[in-house]
Amino acid sequence: MTRVLTGVAASPGIAIAKAYRMQRAEFVPVKEKIGDAKSEQERLRTAVEEARVELGKIRELTEQRLGAAKAEIFEAHIMLLEDPDLIDAALEKIENEGVNAEYALYEVAQSFIDILSAMDNELLRERAADVRDVSGRVIGRLRGQTHTAVSDIVEETIVIADDLTPSDTAQLKPAYVKGFVTEIGSRTSHSAIMARSLEIPAIVGAGAETSEIRSGMTVILDAVEGRVLVNPSEEELEEYRRKKEAYERRRAELRRLAGLPTVSKDGHRVELAANIGSVDDLQKVLENGAEGIGLFRTEFLYMGRSSLPTEEEQYQIYKHVLEKMENKPVVIRTLDIGGDKELPYMKLPVESNPFLGLRAVRLCLSRQDLFRTQLRALLRASRFGQLKIMFPMIAVVEEWMEAKRLLEEEKQRLLQEGVEVSGRIEVGMMIEVPAAALASEMFAKEADFFSIGTNDLIQYTMAADRMNETVSYLYQPCHPTILRLIRMVIQAANKEGKWVGMCGEMAGDARAIPILLGMGLYEFSMSAGFILPAREFIMQTSRTEWAAYIDSLLAMRSQTEIEQFVQAKKGSASE
Ligand code: PEP
Ligand code: MG
Repeated sequence: MTRVLTGVAASPGIAIAKAYRMQRAEFVPVKEKIGDAKSEQERLRTAVEEARVELGKIRELTEQRLGAAKAEIFEAHIMLLEDPDLIDAALEKIENEGVNAEYALYEVAQSFIDILSAMDNELLRERAADVRDVSGRVIGRLRGQTHTAVSDIVEETIVIADDLTPSDTAQLKPAYVKGFVTEIGSRTSHSAIMARSLEIPAIVGAGAETSEIRSGMTVILDAVEGRVLVNPSEEELEEYRRKKEAYERRRAELRRLAGLPTVSKDGHRVELAANIGSVDDLQKVLENGAEGIGLFRTEFLYMGRSSLPTEEEQYQIYKHVLEKMENKPVVIRTLDIGGDKELPYMKLPVESNPFLGLRAVRLCLSRQDLFRTQLRALLRASRFGQLKIMFPMIAVVEEWMEAKRLLEEEKQRLLQEGVEVSGRIEVGMMIEVPAAALASEMFAKEADFFSIGTNDLIQYTMAADRMNETVSYLYQPCHPTILRLIRMVIQAANKEGKWVGMCGEMAGDARAIPILLGMGLYEFSMSAGFILPAREFIMQTSRTEWAAYIDSLLAMRSQTEIEQFVQAKKGSASE
């Protein structure tokens, strides 16, 4: 019988394929001789600790969402990490045999698994799967990953996982991965954002039943309605094949707008740009008629690898993007590591509030070596197009001044070395910390442009973690408070004659677009797949009309009232 799961439609689309359940322990480590047993043991201890923290988070989330009983399994996994027969035995093996940590742990775990699998008792046999899961997680950490096997998928599948990290998602190959379903997760987590830019249909937060989907089962992913159908009937398959076709037909029809500028019915011009995380996203950007790149999340270049990208590697990538965009504006954001975006090979201190910690520009200013490398790569690439450099998470003017100073220093150094640097690079900042939004009049005198990062701005204004589904009711883009902040920022920029855009997910949200248009936002940067529906809407609406509603909207008390108003006006406009 068909089983139906529901979740959050994080990236729209419909997919039908066999399930591929992500396994963690498929990787068999190679035995390597090591010289320094002490530091190898330390590597293992660190990886165990990281796995423990990760499991703790998963356990907490599962408990909040699905109750204590469902979270017990993760408690059992944490206990396994504290089991001396497993970890201590691996530590001993490293010392006695002088072998690498991955191999030592794999061997010890394997002997456990063999013994447990041969037991008569079913409960003990199930423990073998737990040992495999836990040791696989630690081995993954040792290899600089949190999961394995995502990048190895070479047939059409729908990936099923408890969660996907941004680096997992970065490794998904859209040619094979037709969609994914995760047990936990939210709409503004970076995995969801990346799925949208890859145009991979995705459902997140589908709950514990997700774990019952096995590899090979047929799955229908309806990421328009947020439904997953497991083992569907022939009629259901037929119905969804038709729905998929209709969905794709509509998308194909919209392509007629790809080469057109975005001008409202009353002649107001705006720019619809795309958010990207890698050069692989460019294809979709061009197909969907983006008028520029409004946000290149460069941190993804640092993921899915085991060391920092060099200046030369980065230079080649930035150059490629600028060239492909053929002199259209390209906003490249400097490294925004931290929050949910980790770099396993860069040992950063574990923070209890990573979203409030040493992330983005804060990290770059404290690790100037990485920052300078990136700035040099950007400056060198600048002559290949219309580059705009953007600093994330600026809160106070000192951060801005310091980041600008380092940029200027690197520029002067390059010029002295005889390297050509474009004379027309704009330097701007994200407005994503409420302090910066409130100080936007001052910042507008400093920066060449603003880009409003609503994903963070909303979480910090509402004090609601963007990753936590239990407080997602507070995550309200169209709340009057958020709209007031946004208007303040737009007015501040316009007063100084600076352009202002938005690269948070709100910019592509059909509910918000008319309001932002009315407020005078110039650039809307979004997942490429949202550009054409947004263009279609803007071309059929009048900006002046929406501008006239703004004061009344801001006087409303809640998002619900605002959304009802917008919906009603949109309805009457299309009649
Ligand atoms: C934002 O915060 O809105 C944003 C665009 O940045 P990120 O989602 O990468 O934090
Ligand atoms: Mg942000």
